[in-house]
Amino acid sequence: MRIDIATLFPEMCEAVLSESIIGRARKAGAIEIRCHNIRDYTLDKHRRVDDTPYGGGMGMLMQAEPVWRCWLAVCDMLGKPPHSIYLSPKGSVLTQEKTIYLSQKENLFLLCGHYEGIDQRVLDEIIDEEISIGDYVLTGGELPALVLTDAVARMCSGVLPAAVCFEEESHFHGLLEYPQYTRPEIWHGESVPEVLLSGHHLKISDWRNRKSLEITKEKRPDMYDAWRKEQETSCD
Ligand code: SAM
Repeated sequence: MRIDIATLFPEMCEAVLSESIIGRARKAGAIEIRCHNIRDYTLDKHRRVDDTPYGGGMGMLMQAEPVWRCWLAVCDMLGKPPHSIYLSPKGSVLTQEKTIYLSQKENLFLLCGHYEGIDQRVLDEIIDEEISIGDYVLTGGELPALVLTDAVARMCSGVLPAAVCFEEESHFHGLLEYPQYTRPEIWHGESVPEVLLSGHHLKISDWRNRKSLEITKEKRPDMYDAWRKEQETSCD
């Protein structure tokens, strides 16, 4: 998979995406991520990319032309238009289900807004969907693009050692994960649950399933109810 991020702050994105698991996966060629500076695509001699909004109001708006030219350059590199996403507080809120869907795409183009946002006309022309990372407003789309990239990239083949690494985590099957423990066996007087030391795989698996259900019911009753409903319909 290849992800192209269009931003006014490519260094901010590179700094995060060069580290840890994603950074190693990029180096190993398991995933390709390119950050593009929208400012490189302005025709303005002062490299300006924003202007005041028509109709008045506070703040500045990113202009359509540099965004459009950046997107066209990516289309040229790929030889086709990528699935294009505008990170926006007006978008539908990102879920695990959506990240699974996006991880199956060959190419993603992530557009980061700044200031008051972006001229609507270029969004209407190039964007396939708008995605929000939550019902609050940030100063820019870089952190949302990084969140989406991380969540999608970790499910691409070769990024984590095996699919089980992401399939057994919270949200993948509509439940939260069971609690986990590591050495030492006793810490601050608290022992690791006995069953986890038993080496009995079936009992460990039953305990984990039970804990997963208990925790989901306690912390996210909405998820628990949805999971129960799905179980009931799949049994019908
Ligand atoms: N004027 C916009 C509005 O009220 O909907 C908010 C603009 S926000 C200050 C600047 C940029 O940050 C947006 O263009 C978007 O790219 C990004 N952004 C802010 N909050 C976000 C969120 N919750 N999810 C995704 N992107 C967000």
